Amino acid sequence: MQTPNASSLIRPETRVPVVAASDVLVVGGGPAGIAAAVSAARNGASVTLVERYPYLGGLASGGMVLVLDDMHNDTEISVRGLAMEIIDRMERRGLCVYPPDADRDPAVRATEAMWRKWSRWGVFDFHTHTKPHPIIFAAAFDPDGFKQAALDMVAEAGVELRLHSWFQSALVDDDGRAAGVIVETKEGAQAVRAEVVIDTTGDLDVAASAGAAFEEGAYIVTTVSRIGGVDTAAAERFQHEEPERFAEVDRQAKRLIGGCWQYWWLKTPLPGIVWCNCPHMTGFDGMKVEDLTAAEFEGRRRMRALLDFARANVPGFERAYFVDFAPQTGVRQTRLLKGEYVVTKEDVLGRVHFADSVCRGRDYYTPYRALLPVGVEQLLVAGRHYSATPQAQKVSREIPPCMAMGEAAGIAAVLALDGGATVRNVDVGRIQRQMHAQGADPGDRPAVNARAAEPEAA
Ligand SMILES: Cc1cc2nc3c(=O)[nH]c(=O)nc-3n(C[C@H](O)[C@H](O)[C@H](O)COP(=O)(O)OP(=O)(O)OC[C@H]3O[C@@H](n4cnc5c(N)ncnc54)[C@H](O)[C@@H]3O)c2cc1C
Repeated sequence: MQTPNASSLIRPETRVPVVAASDVLVVGGGPAGIAAAVSAARNGASVTLVERYPYLGGLASGGMVLVLDDMHNDTEISVRGLAMEIIDRMERRGLCVYPPDADRDPAVRATEAMWRKWSRWGVFDFHTHTKPHPIIFAAAFDPDGFKQAALDMVAEAGVELRLHSWFQSALVDDDGRAAGVIVETKEGAQAVRAEVVIDTTGDLDVAASAGAAFEEGAYIVTTVSRIGGVDTAAAERFQHEEPERFAEVDRQAKRLIGGCWQYWWLKTPLPGIVWCNCPHMTGFDGMKVEDLTAAEFEGRRRMRALLDFARANVPGFERAYFVDFAPQTGVRQTRLLKGEYVVTKEDVLGRVHFADSVCRGRDYYTPYRALLPVGVEQLLVAGRHYSATPQAQKVSREIPPCMAMGEAAGIAAVLALDGGATVRNVDVGRIQRQMHAQGADPGDRPAVNARAAEPEAA
């Protein structure tokens, strides 16, 4: 090994075995990657899915982000397809809870009774300014339930799953086509080749390595945890029956952790176990080893202080204890693709509709161009690193919309291969039709309150 200077080394070139080859390769087994792999496989492609950890689900399971939301607006459930399928699978095992139609009826959904019944499940529309916020369709789930359902779905679809494989670098042919990746494993480096590659790493690892343009975004980081031994009924009674004392105790609790959403704990399908989507920590770069290590110490320090306080001051928490901290640090935003179209916050909030919309979130639309990198062929991107400005991504990165992007990308990959086209030239109408056929909503029929996109400058 050469040592050009004291602070860097040149790694010697090594021969890398090709361990798998398939039509489609999906890198990253989080929500977007699961959907992309299952969708491509069900459409007839041979698919390899590589994931660095020993489980599927990404932030949804390993990050213990335990509410699937951003899939329902005032009038309809806007994300269906594979996101709804995984909800159904978990629900059948008692590992997923959501409000039934009757409790979301416009006549009752914004009443105090529904707020008491459902708000501690985190299934309310926090975008509204009215109180109580209306109850919406969102699903509280168990992280291991998500892992199992995801494993079942990829296995049934015939996906070749390769866990314990860290993406290391992209393989790009001389003509600029993505041709596979190299991963690091216990056995050393391994190559996986494919005709189409879908980057679902969340941090744009593959597209960045392949030379695609990106922007470096940043947002709050969270060490999510679960607390057990909680008498949730007692805690809810305290909240609703002693609102003034609750408000004061809650204010002190939140001050200890330095920032969080409206509720610092939410119920899970496991009795007595709550999840804490907090603290909000700023100044940590989700790509840097030093920052991620420091975030682990800082998050635990804040949450220990919160638990001590809750045990002493919050009815229902007297015998509470930590069940676990999420094995994955809660990184919301890092690299974002600068693709053929970059979605803006105005697009998301203004419900701008695109003719090439292939999937939806709550009430916004995602154009196919936002999944396409510039300058690299046969590469698609789906999930939280899609082509959006940092401000737009903050309000359009939830789990169901990421799954919908993956589902559309899987279809697009197969249509390209079947039609002898590149993914850039796929007929978007066919992606939309196949999304419908799969029970998903591509957003090709704009809602009445959607605005048409400005025509592009010539
Ligand atoms: C703290 C927090 C709270 C949130 N709250 C909510 C919420 O309440 N509801 C909601 O719907 N959404 C929420 N979100 C957002 C949501 O969790 C993410 O945006 C969503 O999980 C993104 O899905 P993804 O598949 O794009 O990426 P990820 O979930 O990040 O999955 C990426 C996958 O790729 C794998 N991977 C990454 N790099 C490599 C590599 N080099 N080699 C191999 N594999 C790799 C990862 O291990 C992972 O499995 C929250 C996020 C955070 C962090």
